[in-house]
Amino acid sequence: MYILSFDIEDWFHIFHPAYENKPELWNKLNHRVESNTQWVLDFLSRHQLRATFFCLGWVAEKYPQLIKSIHEAGHEVAAHSYMHNKISNLNPETFFTDTKRVIDILENLTGSKITTYRAPGFSMNKNTLWAFEILHDLGIENDSSFKSGLFMGFSGRIPNEPFVLKGNGFELREFPTRTFNFLGNHLIYSGSGYFRVYPYSFIQKMFRASKYEMAYYHPRDFDNGIHNYLNNHAFVKLKYRIGTNSSRKKLDKLVREFDFVTMEKAVGQFDWENAVVFDLMNGENKKADV
Ligand SMILES: [Zn+2]
Repeated sequence: MYILSFDIEDWFHIFHPAYENKPELWNKLNHRVESNTQWVLDFLSRHQLRATFFCLGWVAEKYPQLIKSIHEAGHEVAAHSYMHNKISNLNPETFFTDTKRVIDILENLTGSKITTYRAPGFSMNKNTLWAFEILHDLGIENDSSFKSGLFMGFSGRIPNEPFVLKGNGFELREFPTRTFNFLGNHLIYSGSGYFRVYPYSFIQKMFRASKYEMAYYHPRDFDNGIHNYLNNHAFVKLKYRIGTNSSRKKLDKLVREFDFVTMEKAVGQFDWENAVVFDLMNGENKKADV
């Protein structure tokens, strides 16, 4: 089971102090998300593929037609927060407000229930386990906010395939992004900058060896002029430029070789009865302690 997903945000929605949480600045910058997402939509249409689109509420408000186009093309519209803040920078109250805001916007635009969520920058950690009960209360059933291999306050590492997060009277299905162990570091290979940096042969080898993958991209990953907008930040410029001249070809090779589905479809394909279960009540940050 290979899942294809896109995080619909602009080039300035990156974790850098010059851009983070600065909506007044964002308004003044050149927006690239609309044209880059259009490339993604055209690409998927050529390949007759459907994907899960984790949309930022801020983007959805600026470009409502873009969200409608994603929905009308048959893709799954999912939530990626409103403001793109790391969950670790929020508390239960501000997380609830941000998440409800994005869900309301996306449900109004699509006329469909939003049941899938991804935290900005995979920022769920052992201190933010309280967030899952809020996600459940807001109607979220499926989440993709973890990397495999890490310790998140449960007994055991995050598995490299889907698993269940069990809360007080509810369950959420979790779809982690796979990592490989390199000298004790758990590194991603299937998405974003990691995908841009590694040679295709390596990514192909990893995909061939596994039954589950969560591929994730941003519209900016396929824009080979993106570095022109990141003026005055030399390292950041390089970080987001690297591999953008070959990423379209790489993605083309990947979707030709492997069969991808949306998260929605993957829910029905996975054997949940035999899935690993993590009990949120036994995590390090129980709801009662918040
Ligand atoms: Zn993001």
